[in-house]
Amino acid sequence: MQVPAYVEYEKATSVEHALALLARFGPEARILAGGHSLIPMMKLRLAQPETLVDINGLGELCYLTVTDGELRIGTLTRHAQLLDSAAAGRHFAILHDAEQVIADPVVRNWGTVGGSLCQADPSEDLSAAFAALKATMIIRGPDGIRTVPAREFHTGPYETVVADGELLTEIRIAIRPGGGSAYEKVGRRVGDWPVGAAGAAVWLAGDSIAEAGIGLTAVGAQHFAAAEAEEFLRGAPATEASFGRAGQIAAEHCRPSSDQRGPADYKRHLASELTTRALRRAVRRARGMDA
Ligand SMILES: Cc1cc2nc3c(=O)[nH]c(=O)nc-3n(C[C@H](O)[C@H](O)[C@H](O)COP(=O)(O)OP(=O)(O)OC[C@H]3O[C@@H](n4cnc5c(N)ncnc54)[C@H](O)[C@@H]3O)c2cc1C
Repeated sequence: MQVPAYVEYEKATSVEHALALLARFGPEARILAGGHSLIPMMKLRLAQPETLVDINGLGELCYLTVTDGELRIGTLTRHAQLLDSAAAGRHFAILHDAEQVIADPVVRNWGTVGGSLCQADPSEDLSAAFAALKATMIIRGPDGIRTVPAREFHTGPYETVVADGELLTEIRIAIRPGGGSAYEKVGRRVGDWPVGAAGAAVWLAGDSIAEAGIGLTAVGAQHFAAAEAEEFLRGAPATEASFGRAGQIAAEHCRPSSDQRGPADYKRHLASELTTRALRRAVRRARGMDA
């Protein structure tokens, strides 16, 4: 049986308390959210924090609201709560699409949105969904609050801009008219990490795409996004030809690597095909033609 190394444990009673604990215990302290990623890494000695700061009691970080034209998601919101949220599904169907295929009910019941983003696994599903939606991350630290675009949040595999002593507290997504979104994933089996996945968010102006966001995961896309394909789509007709060409561009610009989930050329093919499918479904939803 794998057992983590000895670790101190502190239970935070408020966000201020969590920040004070992080300041007190320094860079070797780690936030414990759902623990679904951190605890296995500790068992394998891939992470060896000296102190865990448990934020699970912080109800103030567990919410989904529509406020000032934005969907706001507290960092401690569980995957299952996001999946259950009617507001999230109504405004951003991509979030429900993605949550339906993340892991299994046990992981979804306790794993958190913030923990997923901060883990920064290069195959993480929500990172691609939030990149497609061009979300904003709210980070709190000893010097106050700062906001970071989703596409600047991840600095590399397993790395984010959240510094020692800071806490991701909220994710915000602007609600704009004329939008639709969707997520498409291929995994080896139900509930598995993706071999490849793509998310699309579109905003239509008549028969054209006014703006598009495309998120990719597990295929080596920079910042989980397909910026060149988005650029191509701006002002393009919302047609099959555009969706297919955008898929090709997305595939050309990502850098998948071969691993136990599949060869690089297959992942590149998935990037193209799944981008095309996600765009097709997002546009249908924007037109009110698909659930
Ligand atoms: C069997 C299994 C299958 C899975 N399948 C998938 C899948 O298909 N797709 C997918 O995307 N994911 C998958 N996951 C990952 C799962 O979604 C994450 O493990 C989990 O949601 C991470 O959240 P957590 O709350 O458990 O984070 P934790 O494990 O508690 O934390 C992860 C990291 O984030 C840090 N952290 C947590 N919250 C904060 C915060 N608010 N501010 C700053 N740092 C923070 C922690 O210190 C730690 O470094 C799977 C996991 C398991 C165990």
